[in-house]
Amino acid sequence: MAKETLSFQAEVQQILDLMIHSLYSHKEIFLRELISNGSDALDKLRFEAKTNSQWKLSDEESSIRLTPNSDKKTLTIEDNGIGMNREEVQKNIGTIAHSGTKAFLENAQKIKENPELIGQFGVGFYSAFMVADKITLHTQRAGSSEGVLWESTGNGEYTISDVPRAGGHGTTITLHLKEFAAEEEVQDFTQEWVLKGLVKKYSDFIEYPIRMQVTRQEPVRDEEGKVKDNEYQDVIDDQILNSRKALWLQNPKEIKEDEYNQFYKDICHDWTDPLKTIHFRAEGMQEFSALMFIPSQKPFDFNSQEHKWGLSLYVKRVFIMDNAEELLPTYFRFIKGIVDSSDLSLNVSREILQQDRQVSAIRKALTSKILSYLKDELKDNREAYEKFWKTFGATLKEGIPGDHSNKEKIEKLCLFRSTKQDGFTTIEEYISRMPETQKEIYFLTGDHIDQLKNSPYIEAIEEKGYEVILLTDAVDEWVMGVFSDQDGKKLKSVTANDLELDSEEEKKAKEDKLKEDEKKYEKLTSMMQKALETNVSTVKLSSRLKSAPVCFVAGEQEMSARMERMMEAMGQKVPVSKRTLEINPDHPVIEKMMQIPESEQETWAEILYNQALLNEGSPIKDPVRFSQKLTQLMSKN
Ligand code: ADP
Repeated sequence: MAKETLSFQAEVQQILDLMIHSLYSHKEIFLRELISNGSDALDKLRFEAKTNSQWKLSDEESSIRLTPNSDKKTLTIEDNGIGMNREEVQKNIGTIAHSGTKAFLENAQKIKENPELIGQFGVGFYSAFMVADKITLHTQRAGSSEGVLWESTGNGEYTISDVPRAGGHGTTITLHLKEFAAEEEVQDFTQEWVLKGLVKKYSDFIEYPIRMQVTRQEPVRDEEGKVKDNEYQDVIDDQILNSRKALWLQNPKEIKEDEYNQFYKDICHDWTDPLKTIHFRAEGMQEFSALMFIPSQKPFDFNSQEHKWGLSLYVKRVFIMDNAEELLPTYFRFIKGIVDSSDLSLNVSREILQQDRQVSAIRKALTSKILSYLKDELKDNREAYEKFWKTFGATLKEGIPGDHSNKEKIEKLCLFRSTKQDGFTTIEEYISRMPETQKEIYFLTGDHIDQLKNSPYIEAIEEKGYEVILLTDAVDEWVMGVFSDQDGKKLKSVTANDLELDSEEEKKAKEDKLKEDEKKYEKLTSMMQKALETNVSTVKLSSRLKSAPVCFVAGEQEMSARMERMMEAMGQKVPVSKRTLEINPDHPVIEKMMQIPESEQETWAEILYNQALLNEGSPIKDPVRFSQKLTQLMSKN
């Protein structure tokens, strides 16, 4: 058929106009789109060669080739894939075929106003008009001997003619690159290093080799083979620009640990080997592969606002975006790696990720996979798990208040320090050590382990032979507030005012003694209550204390002192809470207090109040006054 000049469908022209005038800043994505088209064409050829015995696949290597020409300002992208016949070219490149372009058109006005939206839609082949003012496409369908030459400047029309293609089946796309003003900061797509960088970024894991002839300088040698000083010659190498190693698509059984480690270092930019590698493929409703890593150390900026996290998202080997936070819950923000989905479109954007149902299904599947992986590690690989826990346990724990559906699983993954164990214990292990008389699981939160171990709150509990879990992470206040009952046993802070420490007889005996003591100390307690009334709600006798004369206790609904401090540190307004002060009637200080004049008792009360603050790890409001009072008291004796 002769050369024809045809008009683009109106909608296509609309898209082309948007492309031609686009101010989109990542024009480079055109290369990703064209390389992906080439890769698809090679896939289709491979598939047809298998199912169609009419023609044979040539022995030639399946590949994609880039040829830049900086003199002519052209870039050619070529594949030896399935190619297209005349009707296919007209249908695929002249009309609106696929849903992505329809959505694009529906949003044309928005895109005009905000060019960055182009990245959200991407329109495959047409995106090349962002960088080219003329495009030639020369293609030949496999099994046919007729080539098709298509050409357009994107201005309403295109020409199409029959021209055999020297290389046989495949497609050659030549972009006549636009001249951009320097301030537009568009890269020069005829530069080898620019193309190498873009292939590495977007298309490194494309299955087929992406080839380019690369000029390299080599020192010139004389007849005897000696290198001449300062003389170089150009040597042309045919290079493969992509690594092609989409490790995540290989069978885990065939991958060596070294390969995983190297891959991790390459893609996650870490110097050290990962602590753990989690690799799996999901089939069924959602098809995707994931290759995830737990780093062996915290990234230096892990606790800062700037810390970027999330997996890298690929769609069929093509890089889509880094730091896709939507793929994991925040308590897994230490996990690095990639997810490759076959179901998502190349054009997914962050905005789409946030609402996409497939994405939330992937996230759910990833979460449950990681949790069950950690469960196995805890069981089978305790030492490594403890190393992991020390580094990222505080982050994982956030899932207990944060992820209702996985809360109980995460609770079982927690490791704790305790009064009976030098190392770590799980809640199940704690329960297995509980004496029969013990009804509750006890814990104490604070800033340092040593401080907690010496806390007056745990003396009576330890004396019973009961174990106390010691917690020092900031998040523990939130975590323990919602921790589920375990094996029918409540988790109880040792500062609670209603500990169930004693048997019925013991309780009875203690109550009787308290009643007696109450009479004896009635005057003292009411005097103390009066002296401390601005800060304390009640002063009462305690049966829990041993070596300390006083302590604070908290009611079930009250915020712990540490929680109050943390809320304050975060700039939250915390209502002043008055708490209960318990005094130890068997302590010599309290007995002595009964014998001194009332005027002195007030000073003692103030000092004891401040000691109670220190005992629970709270700062005292006026340390100078406290130390003066103490000095006065000491000089008296
Ligand atoms: P998409 O790739 O998302 O379908 P494009 O606009 O990039 O959208 O391409 C439209 C169609 O043109 C493709 O679906 C394919 O059928 C055809 N096509 C594009 N590039 C090639 C190529 N290099 N070889 C064969 N067919 C191609």
